[in-house]
This record gives sequence, structure tokens and C-alpha cells, in this order.
Amino acid sequence: MEEVKVFAPATVANVSCGFDVLGFCLDHVGDTVIVRKSNTPGVRITKIEGQELPLETKKNVAGVAVEALLEQIETPFGFEIEIEKGIKAGSGIGSSAASSAGAVVGVNALLGNPFSRNELIAFAMKGEELASGAAHADNVSPALLGGFTLVRCGKKPDVISLPAPTELFATIIHPKIELRTADARSVLKQSISLDKAIQQWGNVGALVSGLYTNNYKLISRALVDVIIEPERSILIPHFDELKATALAAGGLGGGISGSGPSLFTLSRGEKTAENVRQALIKSFEPHGIPFDTFVSKINTHGAKIV
Ligand code: ADP
Repeated sequence: MEEVKVFAPATVANVSCGFDVLGFCLDHVGDTVIVRKSNTPGVRITKIEGQELPLETKKNVAGVAVEALLEQIETPFGFEIEIEKGIKAGSGIGSSAASSAGAVVGVNALLGNPFSRNELIAFAMKGEELASGAAHADNVSPALLGGFTLVRCGKKPDVISLPAPTELFATIIHPKIELRTADARSVLKQSISLDKAIQQWGNVGALVSGLYTNNYKLISRALVDVIIEPERSILIPHFDELKATALAAGGLGGGISGSGPSLFTLSRGEKTAENVRQALIKSFEPHGIPFDTFVSKINTHGAKIV
């Protein structure tokens, strides 16, 4: 095999109550990453379509992630990478994670898959470190493993795959405003009250239980973020209106996707998710801010060779 094409999906990090620990994988929206063997050693990004992003290996998350992988294994050849960006950087649905995940999956395939999907997470996280200054796994884990993932932080983090109930669908609305991850982080307080912590960890536990038991009502009650959303949502125009609209249209719950500005809503059934999308369009259009929407099932396989 000399060349592979990888579809690397968009992802939703945080999932309301699970700030920095939960994420899930979207379907059909993502980056396409082509990786080919080259006689020149090392990694080169030869082409990026769809967006202005750095071609320089050390400034592109895909280049940095693959360099991290190549530090762990000797290869007699180098790699060229082409990226077709299907996700706008900074939209809050894991643009950088998709490029990193796609690139390491492609290189791994050309090397005969010496690394497991779980092992690839650490390499893709190096890309996240470049994008946001912190090596978070909450987007790259679902992008590589699919479904829902939980990251237990620590010196030796655990990345745990959680089941995705089959009737769960996501609706995404992306208001096209600029919201830098650094700004979205800077509004967060560094300490929280015990009362809020208790509510939040109860919700995370309940959400995980709801995913295991297909308990959509419990999932709905658990999709509440009492810590991050109240502080961060002020950066997203008409957030409260959008959220109320999504719930009134039948959504189970939702919130800010990643650090925003996109919002996600989870619904039971594709029809309800589509009703939520239509209601969001109706509510947001009069504000005159450009936006995108889409409905997606939960992608249970993650980045895929196509
Ligand atoms: P997202 O959460 O959607 O990934 P961020 O704002 O956290 O968005 O990260 C995007 C940052 O990473 C931008 O500064 C962008 O220039 C940089 N970057 C480097 N390479 C890529 C790439 N291949 N895809 C997306 N962003 C990239």
C-alpha cells in the first residue's frame, strides 16, 4: 500500500456536564486526509484544500501528530499529507482533532497498523497541544474510537469507550462568529462550589448510566451543565433562546459543543433531531448572523479508511 485516504469525523467535546472528560463522534461531517509514502524522510504537508491553514509541518496539527508517532517507530520512508478541510477551524466541533486523528490513522495503516486506536490517541493529542496549548483527549478520543468516550484524567489517563444508544441523533448549529478557544477558557472561574460540584458529578454519572441502559429520559435529565455553561454561554449570541428552542422542539438536552460557538442537541430519533434543526433555523435566521446546521447519527467507528 502506497497511499491511503482517511475520513476523519467531527466530534462534540464536553457533552454538557462532562467538561474536558466526555466526547462523542459525529458522522459524515469531517476532514479527508490523504497520506502517501515518500522517498524523502520525515513528514510534509503538501496540500490543504477548503481553508487557509499552515503547510509547515510543525505548525499543522496533522504534521505534529505524525511526528510524535514517528518518534516511536523507525521507518525507511517518509510521508506526504494532503488535507481536505470539511470542518472549519475554531467551529467547536473538533476541526484540529479530525486532522490529527486522520493523519495518524493514515500513517499507521501505511506502516501495517503497529499501533492500536487507543495508542494513537497520545500522538493525536500532540496536535491538540499545538492547536490549543493543552493536550486534551476529549475530541481526539471519539474521533479515533467512535461513539461516546470518557477520559479519566491523571498521570496515566484512561480513555473509556461508552455505548451509544442507537436512537440517539445530534443536531448541530454553528453560528459563524469567531470565538477563540483561549477566550472561551479565560472566562472560566478556577474554583467551584461544593453544591455545584455535587450536581455536576451526579449528572456525569447519570449520563453514563443512561448511555449504558438506553434510558433516554435519564440522559435528558443528566444533560445539564451547572458549571461551565452559565459562564461560557454569554460568549455565544442568543444562546439561551437557541437552547430553549431545541428543548421545546423535542430535544433531550444539549449545550455548547466543545468551547463553542457551535451548539449541540441530542434527540431520540432522527425525525425529532430534524425538527430541532428546523426550529433552530427559524429561531436564528432573523438575527442576521450566518450559520450552518446539520443532523448526524452517532458515528460508532471513528476515523475510517475510505
Ligand atoms: P477546533 O476546536 O475546531 O479544533 P481550535 O480553535 O481549538 O478549533 O483549533 C484550531 C487551531 O489549530 C487554529 O489556530 C488553527 O490554525 C490550528 N491548526 C493547525 N493545523 C490545523 C488543521 N489541520 N486543522 C485545523 N486547525 C489547525
